[in-house]
Amino acid sequence: MQNLVSVQEEPGAGLGLGVTADIERGECLLEKRLDLYVLNNELLNEACSYCCSQTKPTKRCAACKQVHYCSKICQKQDWSMHKLECKALRNASTNGLLPTVCRLLIRLYSQTQKDQSLFADCKDHEAEIQHNTALWSDAELISSAASHYTEARDVNAFLSLFCKLSINAMSLVTPAFDAIGTCMDSTLARINHSCQPNCVFMVEGATARLVALQTLQKGDFVHISYVDTTLPYNVRTNELQQKYFFTCTCQKCMEEARRSDNEHGVTYVSLEKASQGSLEDCRFALKTLRDNHWPMTKYPWLNILNTFKLYSLETGAYDAAFAAEFLKVTCDDISSPIYAIDLYQVFLLGKFLCEEYSMNVNREPHSKMILGVKNIERDSLLHWLLLKSEWLESNVLVTHKDTEFGNQVVRNVREFQADYQKANPNLPPLDLESFESALKERTLDIVCN
Ligand SMILES: [Zn+2]
Ligand SMILES: [Zn+2]
Ligand SMILES: [Zn+2]
Repeated sequence: MQNLVSVQEEPGAGLGLGVTADIERGECLLEKRLDLYVLNNELLNEACSYCCSQTKPTKRCAACKQVHYCSKICQKQDWSMHKLECKALRNASTNGLLPTVCRLLIRLYSQTQKDQSLFADCKDHEAEIQHNTALWSDAELISSAASHYTEARDVNAFLSLFCKLSINAMSLVTPAFDAIGTCMDSTLARINHSCQPNCVFMVEGATARLVALQTLQKGDFVHISYVDTTLPYNVRTNELQQKYFFTCTCQKCMEEARRSDNEHGVTYVSLEKASQGSLEDCRFALKTLRDNHWPMTKYPWLNILNTFKLYSLETGAYDAAFAAEFLKVTCDDISSPIYAIDLYQVFLLGKFLCEEYSMNVNREPHSKMILGVKNIERDSLLHWLLLKSEWLESNVLVTHKDTEFGNQVVRNVREFQADYQKANPNLPPLDLESFESALKERTLDIVCN
């Protein structure tokens, strides 16, 4: 692949990653195997620790009995990174599994033993971390565990690597933006932050892809966001300062700093925490946001709706799960790649609901209504899904070109379109706008009451 980025001095931000050619939206600027990564502990049985493939792995490391691989080849390839981790896992086995971050630290130590230069330039902010009591006590705890269980007896080396990790590690996310682990990469670590990122990075297998979210020109710098960009200004600023020791001066921050409703945002952050416990807690939080007319485009609407959806799916309440996901799509910014992911979720749930209801229609000809049997007709919902699926088909490949995920979405959409058109040759007319606003009212009632 042509080299489209290079490490350059970015004005006011130290080293950054500069763009060396004009780039189209959706173009991949960088594709590389990650230098370092670990799967989350709960996925160790579910995915291959080397290639991250999530088809049930068949080989287990016979020594530590914790990490799994899809093949002998993957196992062999991973050994230089796993060797020391394996020893630590065996030594720690009576105390349970080592935390994910501790395993990443041990892998980083192995990597630097092999190649001192790879992460030599990464910032560590060790002095600032020492001043943060909570962070520093974490650093000491994790580093001494790593040093103890690997028998490396090198706490200081682990401590300084921990500082590099806490500044440079990133969440390992699949093209569907599911977090499956943590990673660190010498090139990606060069990318500076903006709350209005122009690129997004995702991982397929263990290969990272950096994709442009907008047109870029030669000489621009790549920016990704280190934090959730929907967080209110105060919370976001605080998080960047506490974790990364800088104050963001992007345009979004400049504008939001002047706003008078920043304090409300902070109040509603606590609502998100309060909604974690149960479906009823979510419902209460959503009702509070709605009653206070807090705009749906703002944090924490999306986060609480997501929790609501997960609780609903757990109990098989697909109507409610659809309602929450539909509302997520209507709150989301259509230009963000997560919009396509959410819309795909709505599409899958909607398709499933229509199938369920179709079976009932055959048994009971009058039950043509869907979603709590009020207002929304099954045929209209089908028609809406069809229109949205066209959008999905033409847009998912902009941000997910050449990914298995993107191809799967397109396959699924085309299959649905073929089936739907076969079964329903005469489409009922549909006014998209008024249908969507009716659906929004109906789904809001479902999640808030
Ligand atoms: Zn594998
Ligand atoms: Zn092992
Ligand atoms: Zn900012």
